[in-house]
Amino acid sequence: MNTTTEQVDCLIIGSGPAGYTAAIYAARADLKPLLYQGLQPGGQLTITTEVENYPGYPNGTQGPEMMIDFENQAKRFGTDIRFGLATKVDFSGPIHKVWIDDEKLIEAKTVIISTGAAAKWLGLESEQKYNGFGVSACAVCDGFFFRGQEVAIVGGGDTAAEEATYLAKLCKKVTMIIRRDELRASKAMQHRVFNTPNIEVLFNTETLEITGEQAVSGARFKNRLTGEEFTKDITGFFVAIGHEPNSGIFKEWLERDENGYIITVPGSSRTNVPGVFASGDVQDHIYRQAVTAAGSGCMAALDAERYLAATFH
Ligand code: NDP
Repeated sequence: MNTTTEQVDCLIIGSGPAGYTAAIYAARADLKPLLYQGLQPGGQLTITTEVENYPGYPNGTQGPEMMIDFENQAKRFGTDIRFGLATKVDFSGPIHKVWIDDEKLIEAKTVIISTGAAAKWLGLESEQKYNGFGVSACAVCDGFFFRGQEVAIVGGGDTAAEEATYLAKLCKKVTMIIRRDELRASKAMQHRVFNTPNIEVLFNTETLEITGEQAVSGARFKNRLTGEEFTKDITGFFVAIGHEPNSGIFKEWLERDENGYIITVPGSSRTNVPGVFASGDVQDHIYRQAVTAAGSGCMAALDAERYLAATFH
C-alpha cells in the first residue's frame, strides 16, 4: 500500500449540515479545515425533497440545493473540500490519524466527526421506488405534505410512537403497522398512541408492498398470525424502524451508547478523546434536525478552536 501523509490542524469528516457548519466556523477562525465528504456528499438532506422548516428560507428550499448552499459557504472561507471516505482511525496519540479510502493518511490535531446516521428501511423495492414520492423516514420533515390525508407508519418504538402522534395532528388518519403483538415504545408513549382517536394500531402486521402510479396511493399488508392479506388506501408511508449512526470505524476509540451513538460531554461536542469532537446525528438520536445538526457543528468548531489554542500554543 502506497500511503501518502498530510498534516492538518482540523479535519472534518462528513458533509451534512453539521460538517459544513463546522467547516464554515473553523475556516473563519483560520483553522484551515480539511473536509472529507464521505459516500453521500450533502448527507441525508440530499435524499429529501422540500425543506420548509430550516430558518432563513421563508419560501422553503430543496434539500439537495440547500446542501450545495452549505458547501459553497464553507468553500467561500477556504475549506479544502474533498471526496473520500474515512475508513480507519487511530486516536491513540496526541496527533490523530485518519485513513481516507484505505490509502491516504491524515494526521490531525483536531478531528470533528459529523458522519451522521442513516434511516433503516424495510428493504422493499417499492419503498425505494416511492422514496420522496409518498415514502419518508421523517415525519417531522415531511408530515406537513400529508395534511388531511390518510397515512401509515411502520415501527413500534418511541420514534414511531412520537411520529404517529405528530402525524395524527396533521392527518385525517394514521395507521401504525407493528410486526409483533406489542409496541416497544415506553408506556407513556403507548398511552398517548392509544388515546389518540385517529391512530389505528395494527399488530402482527407486515408490509408486503407499497403501491401507486407516480406517487403512493396504497399499500398491501399481511396479518402474520392468520396469513390474511389486505390493502389500505394511503398517500403517505412513513418508516420509523430506527436509525444507524455511522460510527462503526470509531468504536475502538470512542465511547458510544448501546445503539452506537457517540457520547459527548453534555453541553459540548467533546468525546472521551481530547481533540476529537462529534456533532450532528452521529451523536444525537433525539432531535435529528438539520438545524440542530448545524448548531452542534458550530459547537464542534468552537470547541476545536479552543482546544487548539490551549494545547498547541
Ligand atoms: P427502536 O429500535 O427502539 O424501535 C424500532 C421499532 O421498529 C421496533 O418497534 C421494531 O420492532 C420495529 N422494527 C425494526 N425493524 C423492523 C422491520 N424490519 N419491520 C417492521 N418493524 C421493524 O428505534 P427508535 O428509533 O424508535 O428509538 C431508538 C432509541 O431512541 C430508543 O432507545 C428510544 O427509546 C429512543 N427515543 C427516545 C425518544 C424520547 O425519549 N422522546 C424519542 C425517540 C427515540 P420490534 O419491537 O419487534 O423489534
